[in-house]
Amino acid sequence: MNRISIVIIVLATSCMNNPTTKNKELTKQQAQTYLDSYNQKYQKLVIAQNEAQWKLNTRIVKGDTITGKLADAADKEMAQFTGSKSNIDSAKKYLAIKDPLTPLQIKQFEVILFNAGNNPAVAEAIVNRRIEANNKQTSLLFGFKYSIDGKPVTTGDIDAILESSTDIKKRLKTWEASKEVGKVLKDGLDSLQYLRNASVTPLGYKDFFDYNAREYGMGEDEIIQLTHQFITEVWPLYRELHTWARYELAAKYKQPVPDYIPAEWLPNRWGQDWSALVDVKGLSIDPVLKSHGAEWMAHESENFYKSIGFDSLPASFWTKSSLYPVPVDSPFTKNNHASAWHMDLDHDVRSLQSITPTTDYWSTVLHEFGHIYYFLSYSNPDIPVILRTGANRGYHEAFGTMMGLASLQKPFLENLGMIKKGIPTNDTLKLLKEALSYIVNIPWGSGVMTEFEYNLYAKKLPKDQYNKRWWELVKEYQGIVPSSPRGEEYCDAATKTHINDDPAQYYDYSIANVLVFQFHTYIADSILHQNPHATNYWGNKAVGDFLHKVMSPGASIDWRELQQKSIHSDMSAKAMVDYFNPLMSYLKRINQGRKYTLPEKHTF
Ligand SMILES: [Zn+2]
Repeated sequence: MNRISIVIIVLATSCMNNPTTKNKELTKQQAQTYLDSYNQKYQKLVIAQNEAQWKLNTRIVKGDTITGKLADAADKEMAQFTGSKSNIDSAKKYLAIKDPLTPLQIKQFEVILFNAGNNPAVAEAIVNRRIEANNKQTSLLFGFKYSIDGKPVTTGDIDAILESSTDIKKRLKTWEASKEVGKVLKDGLDSLQYLRNASVTPLGYKDFFDYNAREYGMGEDEIIQLTHQFITEVWPLYRELHTWARYELAAKYKQPVPDYIPAEWLPNRWGQDWSALVDVKGLSIDPVLKSHGAEWMAHESENFYKSIGFDSLPASFWTKSSLYPVPVDSPFTKNNHASAWHMDLDHDVRSLQSITPTTDYWSTVLHEFGHIYYFLSYSNPDIPVILRTGANRGYHEAFGTMMGLASLQKPFLENLGMIKKGIPTNDTLKLLKEALSYIVNIPWGSGVMTEFEYNLYAKKLPKDQYNKRWWELVKEYQGIVPSSPRGEEYCDAATKTHINDDPAQYYDYSIANVLVFQFHTYIADSILHQNPHATNYWGNKAVGDFLHKVMSPGASIDWRELQQKSIHSDMSAKAMVDYFNPLMSYLKRINQGRKYTLPEKHTF
């Protein structure tokens, strides 16, 4: 034994009895006791909040104000707990002496401090005003009565007209009717701009946009940089789609070709999805779904996840969920927007849907079940309750959407007997339809929505410039313009739900869409060894194993590390652009000789 080894052994034994080591062990234990109690209390409050919200969304009875008040109370109780001075102090104290703590403990303290960030006790009065202003804004939005020529219409009616009518005057009237709601929301948005910012600044966040970016472990500048990167990546293809759409629509409406697309020409109130412009023959599965029915769709969706190796859903999922439309003569109504719920951050998982046998709903069912299986994957003893969320906010959306995309590919449908084997379809048209949804969404989500909310919160955009700025961004990023001037009496941004009730995180959808193609391409290339345009996930256990590995850590590890480990690449829209590559040459051929009005490169 040489001298050096002896020294090491002596050092090693002396460490065991070192008082600082003992202190460290004690600190670690104290931290754990605190974390256990925080997790327990948090779980109880989440259950109360979710039960109140579940009732509010699944049993809407006219004139009932009690359910809403109970939901408010549960929200305030959660805000009080997460923002309490003692929780903030504890999290700060432990984060200042990280050394004795495990990485899992540090991660939990970071989440505790982040949870406090939106509700700090020092700003209690502001936080309470914000909660009330938020609820008021949501009820103004959902309670608004739309009308055309004095006749009441639903948003569903508006969407149906914009999707199918070729009467240009009727389209304009309908589009304008859809924007009236913004007028009543403008003052509320102005208050919320202040209250949201003022809620987060006491704990050191720059503004509300910055606060939301921090959940990704990024600053607001980094998020803006990332969204700019997405736009740069998809821009050449978007420019082709924009040119194609201008000529296509002008012919459809028998109008001269415009330089920018008039907003009311598009099949969506915000021009965020143009896929309704294309109809792909042979791929409609509506008749098959009608013959099978809504319940078959739900159970077949579970069968799909089981076929790739996931467990059966807990029995309570089937008894407690609200999966089908309520009958018209029912004494109550419900929220028609499909969603997935993690009631107790454990095995009480539920879904709220109104499953109808249509092609669109088929992918929605698989999407929502994707959330449910994500919930169940990280609800295991290794993951503390407060880390039972997606690796980041975008991850949760991504896997459901990816299953939705895969569930409409030909081999998948053939395998289920939903379309005839070898039926001829126009693959280019199918790709065009997908691009009009996924690619078109990037300049809208990463450009217009993200930049507007960045302007609103970080740059404190004044109220008398909301509409001006909004339309500058719409023209710049989407190449869309209004047919007549939209003055400051309107607030067209506020017609989009998320601006009011899911603020400053719309880029999550861009991130999710980008991830869909990164993960789908990886699965197609490296696991299935199939063409990414024609895959069949059904029955492949290796796909299930891979997904389980990505989903089960929840938020316990950094999402960048998870991404490197699983698909070996950083976040980028390159996979998305590659997927649509065959379309690029097709569009270039069609657009030959046409005038392009968007710049070749988008500069920021
Ligand atoms: Zn979703």
